[in-house]
Amino acid sequence: MKSYTGEQLIAEGYKPAPAEYFTGKAYLKSFVQPDDNTNCIISDVLFEPGTRNNWHTHGSNQILMIKEGTCYYQEEGKPVQKIEAGGVINILPGVKHWHGASPDTAMIHTAIGINTEKGIVNWLEPVTDEQYKTEV
Ligand code: MN
Repeated sequence: MKSYTGEQLIAEGYKPAPAEYFTGKAYLKSFVQPDDNTNCIISDVLFEPGTRNNWHTHGSNQILMIKEGTCYYQEEGKPVQKIEAGGVINILPGVKHWHGASPDTAMIHTAIGINTEKGIVNWLEPVTDEQYKTEV
């Protein structure tokens, strides 16, 4: 796993992710945006070590393809799962969850949202340190 600097990531087409939806730093690289003919959104998200997004739901399936590092993933009421690079997660509509990096290594996943006319993301509260460390 290589390490990243913010400058390198910006040079590679990443943009800082909105801070209000993350604990820690994340970067986004957009590939497909929805429009009148395309009900789909595709982007890469890089999470610095220890970074995770807030609890949230999606209006339709979100498919995560882990590219680098280890993805920490939790659905409400279930233990945190660790998914290694190469793994795929299919998150069903309305399931409250979060995803992020392990404490020591950055993580990149490709995030695919389908049926975006049903809503892309509904952001909720931050993931506490206690929740992040549970059952891992
Ligand atoms: Mn999600």
